[in-house]
Amino acid sequence: MKFIFWGVRGSIPSPGPRTARYGGNTTCIEVRTDDDTLIVIDGGTGIFSLAQSLLQNKRTPVHANIFITHSHWDHIHGLPFFTPLFVRDSRVRLHGVTDPVTGNGIEHVMGVQLQNSYFPVSETQMDATIEYRTLTIGEAIQVGDATVHNVVMNHPVTDLGYRIECNGKSVFFTGDHEPHYNIHPAGHPEHAAYQQWMAERNAAIDATVQGVDALIVDCSYTREEYPAKQGWGHGTFDSAFSMALRTGAKALYCTHHEPTRSDDELEAVFADVMARHAPLLGDLKVFLAYEGMEVLLT
Ligand SMILES: [Zn+2]
Ligand SMILES: [Zn+2]
Repeated sequence: MKFIFWGVRGSIPSPGPRTARYGGNTTCIEVRTDDDTLIVIDGGTGIFSLAQSLLQNKRTPVHANIFITHSHWDHIHGLPFFTPLFVRDSRVRLHGVTDPVTGNGIEHVMGVQLQNSYFPVSETQMDATIEYRTLTIGEAIQVGDATVHNVVMNHPVTDLGYRIECNGKSVFFTGDHEPHYNIHPAGHPEHAAYQQWMAERNAAIDATVQGVDALIVDCSYTREEYPAKQGWGHGTFDSAFSMALRTGAKALYCTHHEPTRSDDELEAVFADVMARHAPLLGDLKVFLAYEGMEVLLT
């Protein structure tokens, strides 16, 4: 199994000279299983580069299994530009969760973007077969020779973290995730119950991540930036390192880079957090994800 980062930026595309080395496209990860099944996690603007690569390499018709972590723009706004949607005999199957607030299934994520006000082409004009598979939380599904597990992370909308397993190798992506914290102060009547709920949620997340070969985590903020952003639904480099060490991950890939952070600033932040964690890392390998980074799990 291997995976390639096509977009590593959080929140909004950030192209330009300041981000040229790590890339300005928003979240998209291509996973190729051992039997060459194509799994795509998230449809940020990076999915357009993936689409171009598939067409340039004449890997058509495309059979793509897209898994959406959550419906925020930076994880979906490349979807209508996934060019295989326009290629006859291609098949694109979109997976994701029902929005518990609106009750909308995963088809809504595409449908809302294809409204005439926002996009010139309707779904009926697309030549590929498009299928929607709304996932049940905690349900494991078979995709080619891989199994895809999901677990609910912590974000202002429901965000599924996905673990993909193939022939004993595994990769997990958090999507957007802020470590749980108790929203009720000590002494509040609901503090203890919330603490219990958090413990159950954290246990479910850690059990799904446990022992993964490649752990890809939302590292939007530094620990210094975080207090001003608490509740926005994103983690820090420090919280990602903690998750990796706690769950026995083999390698950690830091992604969802903050859009205002230049390449140089990103490397400086990373150097600081690596220096602070150096005595703790043991066998854990840690990488800053960049656009085009390809990882082979052997
Ligand atoms: Zn995001
Ligand atoms: Zn988000």
